[in-house]
Amino acid sequence: MRPPPLILALALAAQPALGQSPRTFEVPGWEGRWYRGNTHTHTTESDGDSAPEHVARWYRDHGYDFLVLSDHNVFTDPAGLPDLATEDFLLIPGEEVTSGFEGRPVHVNGLNIPGVIEPRRAGTLVGTIQANVDAVREVEGVPHINHPNFGWAFGAEVLAKVRDDRLLEIFNGHPGVHNRGGGGIPGLEAVWDDLLSRGKRIYGIAVDDAHHFQGEFAADRANPGRGWVAVRAPRLEPRAIVDALEAGHFYASTGVTLADVVVTPTRIEVHIDPRGDFRYTTEFIGGGGRVLKTTGGNPAIFELDGPTPYVRARVIDSRGDVAWVQPVFVRVGDPGSS
Ligand SMILES: [Zn+2]
Ligand SMILES: [Zn+2]
Repeated sequence: MRPPPLILALALAAQPALGQSPRTFEVPGWEGRWYRGNTHTHTTESDGDSAPEHVARWYRDHGYDFLVLSDHNVFTDPAGLPDLATEDFLLIPGEEVTSGFEGRPVHVNGLNIPGVIEPRRAGTLVGTIQANVDAVREVEGVPHINHPNFGWAFGAEVLAKVRDDRLLEIFNGHPGVHNRGGGGIPGLEAVWDDLLSRGKRIYGIAVDDAHHFQGEFAADRANPGRGWVAVRAPRLEPRAIVDALEAGHFYASTGVTLADVVVTPTRIEVHIDPRGDFRYTTEFIGGGGRVLKTTGGNPAIFELDGPTPYVRARVIDSRGDVAWVQPVFVRVGDPGSS
């Protein structure tokens, strides 16, 4: 949608005067279409209740384009499931590298790995997380750090010290992982904003961590279909998908679907794919987790007009489902100067 001339004039008027440092969004160079996937699920190869074939079929039959089977310290090789992988459904090899430190769970997923990774331990909590992130990197896999509030294991202070990680679970569908925090412990969105505000470039993912595909589907069971990502990638191929994830070319969701996200140097547009008579509220969030703008519009539009290190968006529908748009970072200063 083109902005009306009045809005355009106001936007131009908001440009910095001579001598001020201009602020602009770093425009992401994404391409391709959206692919829906889940990067965290279990099978009978560890503590899930269904065989890998059954689990993969569930996702394929429910509109997912890709899946990572991530069993605890077991490599479930997609090559063993040739009947399930098709041109339209990709299995990316993975594992939930499952370690811990002094009773605190340290679980790091390895995506697109060539074989099993042995969990590592170290003398500190930060060291233990780092050692497992490094183990995934050493085989050119992509790490994501799982459910920080599971067992109330660690928060932003610890995560700020970890290096070479780009992906953090901000929503996990398992009923026992405390996504929202409580009793004085921050929820995972607040942890994410804390890290972003410290200058750490990290993207928030939503996952199922599904264990239960049999019997009753209920809130207190770890069923599939609760959290996923939609990745914008040039093709449905493991390297293209994990590279797009690490570049932040995706949104995370518990039920809201987006049609498009458009970023220009001064503007973010979130185009929502509406469902029935549902209504949507979009919040644009900046440094410190501050809500910079709230709108019921579709597309939801944010114009950059003040200091903030990043802007991200959260779209909430009238049922409470959410889509999290990844942060867009703000560059200060004339791109032509040093
Ligand atoms: Zn776990
Ligand atoms: Zn898990």
